[in-house]
Amino acid sequence: MTVTRRELLSSTAMAALGLAVSRPAHAAPACCASQPAESKKAAFRLSSQLGPIPGKQLPEKLALMEQWGFEAVELPGNCVGKEEEFEKALKNSRLKISALCWGSASGALVSEIPEKRVEGIKLLKGAIDTASRLGCIGVIYVPAFNKQTKLTNQEIRAIVLDVLPAIGEYALQKKTRVLLEPLNRKEAFFLRQLADGAAICRDCNTPGVHMMGDFYHMAIEETSAMGAFLSAGSYLDHVHLASKTRVMPGQDPEDAAFYQDGFRGLKAIGYHGYCSFECGCRGDRKVEIPKALEFLRQQWAKA
Ligand code: MG
Repeated sequence: MTVTRRELLSSTAMAALGLAVSRPAHAAPACCASQPAESKKAAFRLSSQLGPIPGKQLPEKLALMEQWGFEAVELPGNCVGKEEEFEKALKNSRLKISALCWGSASGALVSEIPEKRVEGIKLLKGAIDTASRLGCIGVIYVPAFNKQTKLTNQEIRAIVLDVLPAIGEYALQKKTRVLLEPLNRKEAFFLRQLADGAAICRDCNTPGVHMMGDFYHMAIEETSAMGAFLSAGSYLDHVHLASKTRVMPGQDPEDAAFYQDGFRGLKAIGYHGYCSFECGCRGDRKVEIPKALEFLRQQWAKA
C-alpha cells in the first residue's frame, strides 16, 4: 500500500492530538549505506564536441584536437544519416569517440500523443544504431525539453520507465547505451538533478540505461557538484565541461572552487569516463582552449 503525503500529514496530525502513531526506525542515508568498497582509480580523460573547436572542416578540427591533447571527440546528433562522412574523417585521426550528443527528437518518446511515442522509440533506436556503427560510448538523451510535452513530471517518468529498459537492452546488444542528461529548469522541468537521473537508472535496472552530468546545468541545479557526482555513482558515464556561464572552464571567477569540488566527487567514485567540452568561448579559441585545458588539469591535480 502506498501512503500519500496527504495521508501521512493526517497521521502526523493524529500524533499531535496525542493519538498513538508508531515511529519509523531511523534509516541511514543511502550514500552511507553503500559506500564504494574500493573505488576504481579515477582518470581524467578529455574530449570535446566539435562546436567549440575552431576550423571549418572536420579534419581540421580533429587535427587541432589531437595537437592540444584531447583523447576523444564527442559527435553531434546530425551525424545520424551522415555516418560515412564521419567514418571517413575519423579513420585518419588518432582520437577515440566518446558520446553521441543526440537530444530528444522533439520529445517524441514522451509525447502526450501515443502514436508519436512509437515514432520516438524508432528515432532513439536509430541514434543507437549510428552510435554503435561509429563506436560511441552512448547516446546522450534528454527525455523532454520544456514545452515538448504536455504531460506531467510523474507521467513522463512512468513512460520513461515503461519504454527505456527495453531500449537500453537494445543499446547493450549494439555495444552502446542510453545516457540520460539532466538539464537546468530553464531548459527542462523533467530531470534536473543527477540524483534524480540516478534514481531513474536504478529503476530502469539495466546497464543499457546510464547517465551523465553537465557542469553548466549542475551550477544552476545542484547545491554541491561533489555531492551530485557522488549521488550518480557508477551510473555516471560521461561529463560535459563548461564554466558557470557556459564559456570555457576557467573563464568565470568562481570556476576553480567549482571544478575542484566536482572533481573531488569524480575521484571519489573512481570516474574514468570522458569529460567533454560543451561550451562557448570568450576570446580567441586558439588561445583560450589550451588555457582551459591547463586550468582543468590543475584543478584535477588539486582535487
Ligand atoms: Mg550538456
